[in-house]
Amino acid sequence: MNSTHFERAIFISWYCSKRDCKFCYLSSNPNISQDPKKDRRTLASIFAEAIICKACGWKVEFLSGGCDTYTDKELLNIIKTIYKITKQKQWLNIGTLNKQQLTLFKPYIEGVCGTVECISPKLRDEICPSKPLKEIEEMFKIADQLNLKKTITIIIGLGETIGDFKHLKDFIKKHKLKKITFYRLKPQKGTIYENKQGPKTKYYVEWIKQTRKAFPKIEIVAGSWLTHLDEIHLLLEAGANSITKFPSIKNFNSKYARQIEQECQKAKRIFKGTLTKLPKIKELNSLNLNKTLKEQINIRLNNYLKRMKKPKQ
Ligand code: SF4
Repeated sequence: MNSTHFERAIFISWYCSKRDCKFCYLSSNPNISQDPKKDRRTLASIFAEAIICKACGWKVEFLSGGCDTYTDKELLNIIKTIYKITKQKQWLNIGTLNKQQLTLFKPYIEGVCGTVECISPKLRDEICPSKPLKEIEEMFKIADQLNLKKTITIIIGLGETIGDFKHLKDFIKKHKLKKITFYRLKPQKGTIYENKQGPKTKYYVEWIKQTRKAFPKIEIVAGSWLTHLDEIHLLLEAGANSITKFPSIKNFNSKYARQIEQECQKAKRIFKGTLTKLPKIKELNSLNLNKTLKEQINIRLNNYLKRMKKPKQ
């Protein structure tokens, strides 16, 4: 029986210098002032989450956040520490990065993620006006020079049609992508998608099916949402390797978490890791971190564990 697992993106900031991707909650109110120094998570919270991921057997999908929040030195510290905690080289999903940055992060990263989101040529220009595909492709060229892997994110339901799969196929081929993450559109309040429906399951599954058929070896990660968890077995059967986008700490051992594990069984996959059994944490003592930070991480960890323990439906 094949196995599957859960991948959790670790979110490191909610500041973003772009703020105009039409589906993103950050574009919903461009007048709210943002500050890269304030609109970021604390290190303790980021590292505590990485510890939880490791203990539960969740892979860190990528470190994710808006563009231009941290200095390179700050980013290096985060990436290096998460690498130490998880013993896993990280993927970065924090906008386009230059050669100097990627060279600096290289010892601790597996690769980079291009936030393509929408592959339909004209539509993409409207939806992501400040993230031109060209810049992502430039980053991929540098990744090739440095021997780093490449992945992209695609959101299904932004207005594309299945006829656009040919563009995705060409893009994956051109850049020899190792991995791809699909999300279903979750319409955000205040965005142009607010009153739209997300994609139908059949249509969403079709994108994964066609990707798997065209690329038998690519790693496919598929996101679902609480309202559509009964599609997970279909996403896996269509060719997804793993699943993502589940609020796994907040909904730990809930009916949703149990449903995901059951959906994996339905697709005849062994689920590696757990969304339902509270983990034992032992990583903290072995980490070479300063005393104050360790104390702060401990407080965050206990908060997360409390949330995970809390009885839910
Ligand atoms: S770059 Fe990312 S965080 Fe920034 S607006 Fe676009 S989707 Fe949102």
